[in-house]
Amino acid sequence: MSGYHVAPADGLVKLDAMENPYQLPQNLRTQLASQLAALPVNRYPAPDYGELKDIIARVYDIPATARVVLGNGSDELILMLSMAVAGSGQPIVAPAPSFVMYGISGQLAGARFVGVNLTPDLMLDGSAMLAAIAAEQPALVYIAYPNNPTGACFDDEVIERIITRAPGLVVLDEAYFPFAGKTWMQRLTQFPNLIVMRTVSKIGLAGIRIGYLAADPAIAAQLEKVRPPYNISVLDEAAAVFALNHIDVLDEQAALVRGGRQAQADGLAALPGLTVFPSMANFLLVRVPDADKVHAGLLKRRVLVRNVTKMHPLLSNCLRITVSTPQENALLLQAMSETLSSLSTQA
Ligand SMILES: *Cc1c(COP(=O)(O)O)cnc(C)c1O
Repeated sequence: MSGYHVAPADGLVKLDAMENPYQLPQNLRTQLASQLAALPVNRYPAPDYGELKDIIARVYDIPATARVVLGNGSDELILMLSMAVAGSGQPIVAPAPSFVMYGISGQLAGARFVGVNLTPDLMLDGSAMLAAIAAEQPALVYIAYPNNPTGACFDDEVIERIITRAPGLVVLDEAYFPFAGKTWMQRLTQFPNLIVMRTVSKIGLAGIRIGYLAADPAIAAQLEKVRPPYNISVLDEAAAVFALNHIDVLDEQAALVRGGRQAQADGLAALPGLTVFPSMANFLLVRVPDADKVHAGLLKRRVLVRNVTKMHPLLSNCLRITVSTPQENALLLQAMSETLSSLSTQA
C-alpha cells in the first residue's frame, strides 16, 4: 500500500487540495478568537456534541427522522464506516477513479475493496456497478457526488437503482455539495440504507476537521459504536458552531468560487492541447499533453496543482486544479500558457 501523499506548499499558489481561498473576515476572526479563549480546555468535550449537531441539522435542512454522526473530518467517518463493515466479510465497492480514502481506509480496516471503472468519458458505468453489486453483495457502496477527482455528479436514476439494489449501506459523499447545489439529503427518508456524508473542509474550514453524516437512527447507532468518544476537540466544535452561525459568509465565498468556475474551464479549454472535463465541484480535471512535464512546469512557476496521472489508467495525463480567486485563477492560466509554449518549443 501507499499512504495518502500531501505535497509541501510553502510559498506556492496552492491549487492542489480544493481549499476555499478566502479566510473568514477579520471581525469574525476576532470574535472567534475571544470565544475560543473562554473555553474550558481542561475538560473533555461534552460527549453528545448536541450544539454542533443541532446547528448542522438546522443549517443543512437534515430530515427530522435522520440522526447526525460527527467525524474528525469525513476522513474519520470513512474510517468508522470501514471498521463498522469490515467484520462482515463482505467487500466495499466504489467507482474508480474516486476518492482514494475509500480504498485505503477499507483495506486498513481489513475489508476487501472493489473499484468499478468509470466509462472512458469518466461517467458512472451503471451496468458495471449493478453487476458488481449483484456479484459482490457489498456491505458498503460509496458514490462521491460530485465525484473527486473527475468533477461530475453521476446520473440520479442510476444512483437510485444502485441504492435500491445494494444489499448494504450506500454512502453518498457530498463533500462538494456547496458547489454542486444538488443533494440526496431530502431522500434519506425514502431509502433506509442511504447515508449522506459531508464535510466543512471545502467551504473554508479544512483546518478544523469536521465531517458529518446523516442516516437512519438504527444505522447511526451502530456507527456511534466505532466512533472514538472525544473525536472532535472543544476548539473544533466551537469554531464549527461559530462558522455555521455565519453560514451566509461561507455561502457567499462558495458562490464567488462557483461563479469563476466556467470562465476558468473556458480559459483552460482555449489553451492548445487541453481537455477540460465538466465539473460541478470547486476543481477542474484537465487532460494535458504530458502531465508530469506540465506539473513540473507549473511548479517552476510557483503554482501547485495535483498530478493524478498515476492514480488510475483512466486519468492518464490528467491534472486536478482547484478553482480559486480571480487573481489565482489568472496566475494558473498564465503559468499554464507559459508552460505549454515552453514544452512545444522544446519538442
Ligand atoms: C476532500 C474530500 C473528503 C475529505 O474531507 P475531510 O472532511 O477534509 O476529511 C471526503 N470526500 C471527498 C470526495 C473529498 O473530496
